[in-house]
Amino acid sequence: MKAEVFAIGTEILIGDILDTNSHFIARRLPALGIDCYFTHQVGDNLERLTGELRRAWERSDLLLLTGGLGPTEDDVTREAVAALVDEQPVVDPELEHTLRGFFAGRGYAMPERNVKQAWLLPSTRAIPNPRGTAPGWWVEKDGRVLVAMPGPPAEFTFMWEQEVEPRLARLAGGAVIVSRTLKTIGVGEGTVDEMLSPLLKSTNPTIGVYAKQDGVHARITAKAATRDDATALIAPLEAEVRRILGTAVWGADDDTLGKAVGGMLRDRGMTLATMESCTAGLLGATITETPRSSDYYRGGFISYWTELKKRWGVPAQVVEQHGVVSAECAEAMARAAALATDADFGLSVTCVAGLDPQEEKPPGTVHVGCYDRATDRASHISFRFNQGRHAVRERAVTVGLLLLRRTLLGEQPGQVIRSG
Ligand code: ATP
Ligand code: MG
Repeated sequence: MKAEVFAIGTEILIGDILDTNSHFIARRLPALGIDCYFTHQVGDNLERLTGELRRAWERSDLLLLTGGLGPTEDDVTREAVAALVDEQPVVDPELEHTLRGFFAGRGYAMPERNVKQAWLLPSTRAIPNPRGTAPGWWVEKDGRVLVAMPGPPAEFTFMWEQEVEPRLARLAGGAVIVSRTLKTIGVGEGTVDEMLSPLLKSTNPTIGVYAKQDGVHARITAKAATRDDATALIAPLEAEVRRILGTAVWGADDDTLGKAVGGMLRDRGMTLATMESCTAGLLGATITETPRSSDYYRGGFISYWTELKKRWGVPAQVVEQHGVVSAECAEAMARAAALATDADFGLSVTCVAGLDPQEEKPPGTVHVGCYDRATDRASHISFRFNQGRHAVRERAVTVGLLLLRRTLLGEQPGQVIRSG
């Protein structure tokens, strides 16, 4: 089944909003066994929208639309679809009743403009929208299907999950594509690719290697008649990838590094504190994205002022001898954080994030430190990453979590890989 996706709205074309709806749909189609051939972004213009829809209608089986279902003058999706299938809209009494009820429930009279949200065409069925006023449209004609959904992501995703995806699954009913992503850290893209090279020739499942912000991912993708069959194809290959990559694999699919490392602390009944310069709390924020992280996260210090580092326990002599952007200072900060909070581990970041003419260290110089109270030993990772302030801060957090993970696993900070 061939599909095309339409994001409708001038806001998208002028860069006012990012088209996340198309991204959402594109990610969901492979699992349904539906091939996406084109995605379109079209403004709120009846003529151009109708033209694009006509071209797609001629060559594809399924058109998936979001946006332009509102009541306003510039919401033209209904008009365009009516023109496409050459049918006249009529106001559906039941939909109109529901719509008026929606407004009455909020204590308003319904603006007459909204009546068009109760339109139906002869080949159209309404798709309920419990999160908004505009119902979606399910259109079937000439062996083709068009689905129009509202633009606001909260309404659209709910409608997709509840109504659209189950119907598409029944309709497509063919092969499904299932992916499993294994996430690694501390090994380069080339190394992962090389290590997995004997498996890369496999055609079903296939394996792809991708460098991401949180490390290198290996994605295994299988195509089969059912979800279970595809999952069964993936299982032996996943076991093999895990064996080859060993402890470099820290999670799968939707796992985050903060959650993975937090889970290790929780399992061991251990606690963590942080001290951050340069990332200003990003490390703490990342750790606390996971619910109930207060079970293991004691808290953190944001210390920019050198004097503050000293007041919070970094020895003056370390600062004077090595400077604040140094491996020694990172280790001392980690130790200070742990001791001040009676935590089992301290984790720290100190770096030069952006270009600063006053700073003699080159931008992107990062030191992360980790202190283990049980052994009274600290370790660090130092690196340079010159891709701008934002990227440096994100990378610093990732490497900090990597260092903590290695400490928890009893590995060396710079260890490349330990295969299983
Ligand atoms: P409404 O009834 O709110 O007017 P609508 O179906 O007419 O809904 P639009 O007017 O096209 O939808 O968009 C409403 C809002 O939904 C936009 O301002 C934007 O915030 C969000 N939105 C629309 N399309 C997209 C998209 N493709 N990706 C992400 N957000 C979107
Ligand atoms: Mg609108």
